[in-house]
Amino acid sequence: MNDMSTINRLESKVRSYCRHFPVVFTKARGATLEDEGGNVYIDFLAGAGALNYGHNDPALKAKLLDYIEADQIVHGLDMATGAKQAFMEAFESLILSPRRMRYKMQFTGPTGTNAVEAAMKIARNFTDRQTIVSFTNGFHGVTLGSVAATGNSHFRDGCGMQPQGTAFMPYDGYMGDGIDTTEYLDKMLADGSSGLDHPAAVIVETVQGEGGINVARNEWLRSLEAVCRKHGILLIVDEIQAGCGRTGTFFSFEEAGISPDIITLSKSLSGYGLPLSLVLMKPELDQWKPGEHNGTFRGNNLAFVTARAALEEYWRDGSFEREVRRKGGIVRERLERLVDLDERGVLSARGRGMMQALDCTIGELATRISALAFEKGLIMETSGSDDQVLKCLMPLTISDEELERGLSILEESVIEALSEIPEEALDKDGEKLWMEVLA
Ligand code: PLP
Repeated sequence: MNDMSTINRLESKVRSYCRHFPVVFTKARGATLEDEGGNVYIDFLAGAGALNYGHNDPALKAKLLDYIEADQIVHGLDMATGAKQAFMEAFESLILSPRRMRYKMQFTGPTGTNAVEAAMKIARNFTDRQTIVSFTNGFHGVTLGSVAATGNSHFRDGCGMQPQGTAFMPYDGYMGDGIDTTEYLDKMLADGSSGLDHPAAVIVETVQGEGGINVARNEWLRSLEAVCRKHGILLIVDEIQAGCGRTGTFFSFEEAGISPDIITLSKSLSGYGLPLSLVLMKPELDQWKPGEHNGTFRGNNLAFVTARAALEEYWRDGSFEREVRRKGGIVRERLERLVDLDERGVLSARGRGMMQALDCTIGELATRISALAFEKGLIMETSGSDDQVLKCLMPLTISDEELERGLSILEESVIEALSEIPEEALDKDGEKLWMEVLA
């Protein structure tokens, strides 16, 4: 049981999640996964944000099975299909129109990174400028264009050449509390000798997912939009992880009241974990020539079916959003309780909606907690520049009972990991020494 020898023998060293959670998964339903030994795990990873509605949602599955059973179109390049049209109509009527959003829709290759590549091309071609401003700790994918907008050197180093065409600015909070980093951007843009070439666009996540659940304040996002408008720069909001309801509204920028020029969506858009990516652009930006950004797998029809079903199931009224905010409150309260338990003050909690995190200051501690949690039946990943942040990204549909159970496993794991810290580290003051002992 749980024999991974074939994977370990044949799959490239690049594999990652199967190293952290070394069992063979065979089944999944809602917020739980089962391995081949029959062990059940609560899922606080949710496909890194691709499973906002959980595994194999029955309503979505029924629509998918009917569609397959009726021999409807599965692959059609980007040809017109009934499934595509029905999804677009649902997206317009349930998401765009109620928010008074006017955007054109582009289906790119099915990965998030391909949507980001397309968004960057749109901005560069429209403005005839090259530089894209990205932010410290931002993550936008690992293909050459998007990895250039990704801060983490782990990914940048892997691309075998110097990533090009981007400039990095400090994200909200990067310089400490009380410093508005958009003022710095504004100054750099206004000064012809700052060394910053006039950019085509700024790309930003409202909550940085892979970067460690760093939350941008709404005022900061509004100032960023104002700086973009002032200097004639396009604003791209990357909603690939924070979108589709994760923060408590369909788009994570809604609360800030901003109006991005370009929006990228992927991960939970299909609702079922099927690959699907979408770029929304203001109509005047749609200057593509036919097929200029193409791809064999643009518009996955099976994903269109489940994406439409997800919209109809969860986004007909505001009740789902209210539930996300309520459960997000439960998660945050439990995380704050853990922070209170930690006398040395190395833990802190942050997040928005059901995108919450426990910052453990150092990667070793977060990794140890994640490993202990896995032994006890909870799947939860780390993120951040040093893997120091434990990310709570459970399905938004998780039941209260499963949520409490998962949080209790987390609590036990945190207590156990903290208790493993050697005595000599406890009586010395200063987190530095404590960190040295643990590292
Ligand atoms: N953008 C953001 C904000 C992401 O979180 C991710 C993936 O984690 C991506 C882009 C890249 O998506 P994909 O892994 O599907 O290429």
